[in-house]
Amino acid sequence: MPVNTLKFAEISKELIVKNTTLVAVSKTKPVEDIQALYDLGQRDFGENYVQELVDKERALPKDIRWHFIGHLQSNKVKMIAPFVALIQGVDSLKLLTEINKQAAKNNRVINCLLQVHIAQEETKFGMNEAELVEAKEKAANLPNVKISGLMGMASFSDDSSLVRKEFRYLHSLVGKYSFQGILSMGMSGDYEMAIEEGSNMVRIGSLLFGSRG
Ligand SMILES: *Cc1c(COP(=O)(O)O)cnc(C)c1O
Repeated sequence: MPVNTLKFAEISKELIVKNTTLVAVSKTKPVEDIQALYDLGQRDFGENYVQELVDKERALPKDIRWHFIGHLQSNKVKMIAPFVALIQGVDSLKLLTEINKQAAKNNRVINCLLQVHIAQEETKFGMNEAELVEAKEKAANLPNVKISGLMGMASFSDDSSLVRKEFRYLHSLVGKYSFQGILSMGMSGDYEMAIEEGSNMVRIGSLLFGSRG
């Protein structure tokens, strides 16, 4: 399926007005599709799989800002540490500590979002409130990571009041624990609601690149 450039233009325009960053989620899609959106001006791309991200980073322009948005295993951090722009979905202190170590080896500071578990499904990763507070405190002693905000994934549900409640909860944590900067929430099916509830970064895949089958 070709890239939906009309949809891209429409969403980009909408997001500029709303001061929201678009991360184009290109997981499983070929480099040609990423290049097509790059040629239209898109620079932020999100990937879920480490090896796939490494291969794409090699093949594509160097000014792309790569977001790792999947579940990251500690033993794979070193593969993306040299270039990753933002690791979304940091869901444990152990992972944060490993990112700090690998960032130091690369003489850089890596931007991270702490992922909060907001969905009903057990399968979605993320910290609870106590773990979030602990990670934020410990991060103060990790010079090579910067906590740039929060990320969350709402339930995969038709119940829009449930999804809205989850977004609202995540937004409430920003103020409660003074997380400044990025609030990454919202995907193809729920990004408009996420923005209404305070998101300033959305991660959109299938609307732009077609369904992943
Ligand atoms: C795949 C994925 C997305 C994009 O999902 P779409 O429904 O295709 O827009 C966003 N965020 C995360 C964490 C993902 O894994």
